[in-house]
Amino acid sequence: MPSLQSVISCLSDYDPTALPVDQANRIIADVVEPVTGIEQLAIRTALDRVLAEDVVSPIDVPAHDNAAMDGYAFNAANLPASGDAVLTVAGTALAGDTGLPAPAAGTAVRIMTGAVMPAGCDTVIPQELVEVDGDTIRFAADAVRAGDNRRFRGEDLAAGKPALRAGRLLRPADLGLLASLGIAEVRVRRRLRVAFFSTGDELRSIGETLDAGCVYDSNRYTLHAMLTRLGVELIDMGVVRDDPAALEAAFRTACENADAVITSGGVSVGEADYTKAIMARLGDVTFWKIAMRPGRPMAFGRIASNGKEALLFGLPGNPVAVMVTFYHFVRAALHRMMGTDLAAPPLMRVRSAQAIRKKPGRTEYQRGILAPGADGQWEVRITGQQGSGVLRSMSEANCFIVLGHQQGGVAAGDPVDVMLFEGLI
Ligand code: AMP
Ligand code: MG
Repeated sequence: MPSLQSVISCLSDYDPTALPVDQANRIIADVVEPVTGIEQLAIRTALDRVLAEDVVSPIDVPAHDNAAMDGYAFNAANLPASGDAVLTVAGTALAGDTGLPAPAAGTAVRIMTGAVMPAGCDTVIPQELVEVDGDTIRFAADAVRAGDNRRFRGEDLAAGKPALRAGRLLRPADLGLLASLGIAEVRVRRRLRVAFFSTGDELRSIGETLDAGCVYDSNRYTLHAMLTRLGVELIDMGVVRDDPAALEAAFRTACENADAVITSGGVSVGEADYTKAIMARLGDVTFWKIAMRPGRPMAFGRIASNGKEALLFGLPGNPVAVMVTFYHFVRAALHRMMGTDLAAPPLMRVRSAQAIRKKPGRTEYQRGILAPGADGQWEVRITGQQGSGVLRSMSEANCFIVLGHQQGGVAAGDPVDVMLFEGLI
């Protein structure tokens, strides 16, 4: 992996104290590389895993020339130049039938969608276009052209051609596709191992008494859930106190057992804790103030312990900031480590139901509810209190309202970009 310093030194306009979101993501993408390690899985268990190699089709799809419609197959030589074609029906080809003899001149074969084209037939007339009279059919000669409604062998996919490419994150359709090729197992990248813990003396775990000035540790639960959705192996290391020895031991254990380490808290300016000092001591870590809201402070880099290395994300402590930085930085980085480069989720442009205050010079991820307005057009409104500690704003929302770096305030009725949670979370 390239070092963080070498990546950063190539940037002319690098300012770690006001880093635009895009630039932070470019640096992360340049530093992160896929893990090595492959395993072979039955396709049923390969959902959400990443293909390690191209899958080459062992067969032609479809395997035979076949009918694309229910109707009658015949040879186009039987079509008169004009007027009506009249043919005798000389048999039936059902799906799965093979080896039907070629129909004689002046005859056609009744055929069902997907059935193998009988020898000598090259055209199918859909049944809706024919008049049937006993065992003869009649249709306008110009209702079809030679070759209509016939699917060719190998038309969808030829044997020997890649059906799916390495780096593909396997979805339900891909598993069906693999099954349609008769492929039982695939080679996928091994699962990522991700260790995570919360830092802060004010944190209490569920089940403990909430002393004055304390809060329950919620970040570990949102992180656990977000990481579960990504399909990684989790190492939940609990809450670590602001104590140098405890923190160092936690970072070392995490680093030695995981590909990536995610922490929350302790990276803000003026934190009375040791988290930043220990992160910096254990590796190549940079501390950013990102030009975004929520989620300004973030540590990123690589730490090492006893010859093992791990990627490090030191996320802010505020619960909404944790989720926003996870979705907008960590998610893509982990996908890249998993061996896949997914495009960022699409943005939809919809009407803002209300005015939104925003200063140019930072990207904002306000929490929104996208719903049809009174006129039936989609519109978005913000979920009340947008403080970075107000987790309810995430829970009630169904999308981020993404207000770009340069953008200023929004007037009611203006279009804004939204990123749907569905598919993201
Ligand atoms: P910090 O970044 O450590 O200064 O934390 C910022 C704010 O987030 C403080 O109000 C913390 O109490 C809160 N916070 C930090 N970690 C957690 C956590 N794991 N769960 C809930 N709140 C947290
Ligand atoms: Mg703290």
